[in-house]
Amino acid sequence: MKNLLQSAADRATRYLEGLNDRRVAPTSRAIEGLARLDVPLPEQPSDPGDVLAALDEVGSPATLASAGGRFFGFVIGGAVPASLAANWLAGAWDQNAGMVTGSPVASRIEEIALGWLLELLALPRDAAGAFVTGGTMANFTAICAARHALLARVGWDVEADGLFGAPPVTVIVSEEAHVSVLKSLGLAGFGRERVTRVPTDGQGRMRPDRLPPFDGPTLVCLQAGNVDTGAFDPAEEVCERARAAGAWVHVDGAFGLWAAAAPERAGLVAGYERADSWATDAHKWLNVPYDSGIAICRDADSLRASMAVRAAYLVHGDRREPCQTTPELSRRARGIEVWAAIRSLGRAGVADLIERTCRHAARFAQGLRAAGHEVANDVVLNQVLVSFGDDEATRRVTAAVQADGTCWCGGTVWKGRTLMRISVSSWATTKDDVERSLEAILRCAAGPREPAA
Ligand SMILES: *Cc1c(COP(=O)(O)O)cnc(C)c1O
Repeated sequence: MKNLLQSAADRATRYLEGLNDRRVAPTSRAIEGLARLDVPLPEQPSDPGDVLAALDEVGSPATLASAGGRFFGFVIGGAVPASLAANWLAGAWDQNAGMVTGSPVASRIEEIALGWLLELLALPRDAAGAFVTGGTMANFTAICAARHALLARVGWDVEADGLFGAPPVTVIVSEEAHVSVLKSLGLAGFGRERVTRVPTDGQGRMRPDRLPPFDGPTLVCLQAGNVDTGAFDPAEEVCERARAAGAWVHVDGAFGLWAAAAPERAGLVAGYERADSWATDAHKWLNVPYDSGIAICRDADSLRASMAVRAAYLVHGDRREPCQTTPELSRRARGIEVWAAIRSLGRAGVADLIERTCRHAARFAQGLRAAGHEVANDVVLNQVLVSFGDDEATRRVTAAVQADGTCWCGGTVWKGRTLMRISVSSWATTKDDVERSLEAILRCAAGPREPAA
């Protein structure tokens, strides 16, 4: 066991140390090489050391180097050192985090991590929380709590009786709600299409003047951090109206809620603390290993009512039972990496991580504009949208950037335009990474050199 785990540590360390010198996207040769893992079902055991060697030799080159400093696709963080190390130790512990009895350590660490999260994100200190796989499941979990509360208020027990024949619930989202919110609404029985979609402004924020009246049981889904622009829906106005009407406000804050942790960005989340539930990711901006998200709910009873189960063989004590907050019963102890990341960074380190990545984004925007390219959004957070001319030109440059390998940026279509997205979300990104990447992007945008006359 010792040699094996030592070898895993050596291989992982070598992998991480090599990230700075390799292409961000794997070569097609490395991807084709994955066929070597596809052997017929092994009839006999093999040496675990050989298993690990095959994974490393074939698998490592075929990874996307998203753990390094020059990956700017989607919204993907790396893993701060303490959280990766904690993940390894927690793997050795192999705890089932579902119940206090199943893992006293995992459940206690979750409670502590949740308390710290609420403080960092400036949310009500007595809110309940669930450690789930990511933003999607966090949205789903919180929406289930909302569904319980809204229907219980009109005398309907949705957990017992489902939605057939239930009083209707009005669901309001913005035209630019993240797809995971729509999917979660579908999973919860509200329908992906059966929603009122409120138009957005020039930055992708919900327009409060276009909100429909809140009539009867109503769920409003706000967005803290538009996945394209990083913009924030106007929470103050919406929460004010929701409170008066008894509506439930849910916030998709997968990455944007983390603005609360950085003093210079905290103004962006003003009013969000007045909502009823929040979904966020830890594997994005907090930079813990996949997978990790958190659902937070002001009313602990609604979360428990929607998620709790009882069975004679399960032991439920007086403490917070993790499985009474999550869709899962058996579950990985996800709070451990969150605890370790926050414990190692401290409030100042988290603030610096958020602020630093936002500044890197601003530098990208400035460098691109200086070279004559159009930045399509106000860069208020860590997201930059850039155009290199018409849609076709932007598609071509995005593909060239990915093929070049110095860095990796993805594309999007926002308000009908094809754009390249730069999302700076990793603790590992240095100023040097930003300059090297900017240079590569500008080189790709300049196109192949004209042959000398
Ligand atoms: C990433 C993201 C999600 C989904 O989170 P996952 O962790 O990928 O499930 C939801 N909303 C927004 C705004 C996001 O950026």
